[in-house]
Amino acid sequence: MKVLVVNCGSSSLKYQLLDMNDESVMAIGLVERIGIEGSRVKHETMGKGKTVIEKEMASHKEAIQMVLETLIDSNIGAISSLKEIDAVGHRVVHGGEKFAGSVIITEEVIKAMEDCTDLAPLHNPPNIIGIRACQELMPDLPMVGVFDTAFHQTMPKYSYIYPLPYELYEELGIRRYGFHGTSHKYVSQRAAELLGKDIKDLKIITCHLGNGASVTAIKNGISLDTSMGLTPLEGLVMGTRSGDIDPAIISFLMDKKKMTIEEVNDMLNKKSGVLGISGISSDFRDIEQEAKKGNERAQLALDKFHFIVKKYIGSYAAAMGGLDVLVFTAGLGENSPESRLKICEDMAFLGIDIDEAKNNIRGKETMISKDNMSVKAFIIPTNEELVIARDTKSLVKMLDKSL
Ligand code: AMP
Repeated sequence: MKVLVVNCGSSSLKYQLLDMNDESVMAIGLVERIGIEGSRVKHETMGKGKTVIEKEMASHKEAIQMVLETLIDSNIGAISSLKEIDAVGHRVVHGGEKFAGSVIITEEVIKAMEDCTDLAPLHNPPNIIGIRACQELMPDLPMVGVFDTAFHQTMPKYSYIYPLPYELYEELGIRRYGFHGTSHKYVSQRAAELLGKDIKDLKIITCHLGNGASVTAIKNGISLDTSMGLTPLEGLVMGTRSGDIDPAIISFLMDKKKMTIEEVNDMLNKKSGVLGISGISSDFRDIEQEAKKGNERAQLALDKFHFIVKKYIGSYAAAMGGLDVLVFTAGLGENSPESRLKICEDMAFLGIDIDEAKNNIRGKETMISKDNMSVKAFIIPTNEELVIARDTKSLVKMLDKSL
């Protein structure tokens, strides 16, 4: 079975074609600047190399049309006909309380996704546009929706409720949802596999540290708590997002600086985090480089980031009543030995101690803890596309059986 995985953003579209017989990636690509001048497809078919195709694409439908044409192109494509694609899996950011797992997409499901739009105004609309475009171009193919929030639907109520008037939860769905669920699920399952243990017997903390970053406490295979909340703004210090702050800062700024709510929102989402502290960049590579040259604010941004990840690890170990496994994933988590070491510094009292030699590696599935430590620490490159393709395959097989 061949599955096309689609991840639609507001002006971009990532895709992968996977052969699910052996879970191999046949082709991978990214469409950039959809609806903006200078749009292009960066495409790679495995074994045939990379290509960049410059072509104006005014809409997501045109972008998907272009992706499909590229996939069947006789020189750079991966398949000879679109008939070879058996199903499409879509990443959807917010599933609210309606989706605790992946689903076959129906009109009813799309309506429920639309109902979640208030909770993810930037993310859900392009996801839905991508689904509609694929439906128009491939009307006979089954499609599956995989939600970033679904894995965290197991959080107990005391974990997801905010200490606000309860009616706000009932009326507006204001509660903690969590994100990066597909990634946390994949790396936690993979860690259990690598240890040869049942995930139900493990207490795991997964650190997804990329431009967006979140930490999850996974007890007995289910998400007990995660650092992101109603939106991806809560929790860790991120590339450009503030993470946890005193909420009174918002009214203080509106009063003192006469900022509008849009300006405050923009500042918290796009001008804060390590970019805000360092004043240099949202990219940890730039900040690490500047810190090494002695830039104090770059060092402060890193110190703040490492400190807050450490605090979340400590609090989640306490919340779970112990810890067996610690996983680092995503851009920084997979690629920065310095950050992993700093985050885990002085944590031997919790059973965490990193072996510097093993840790000196980037982007490879590796156990990095010292052999004698009770907490097994890993780098596990995340693979959200594979989870989407696996869920798509299993739901489509179930659908076939029920027909
Ligand atoms: P992601 O959002 O998972 O794609 O992660 C992107 C972020 O990972 C970038 O903004 C960088 O800050 C960080 N990153 C990627 N590679 C490295 C590296 N070699 N060293 C430090 N940070 C890195």
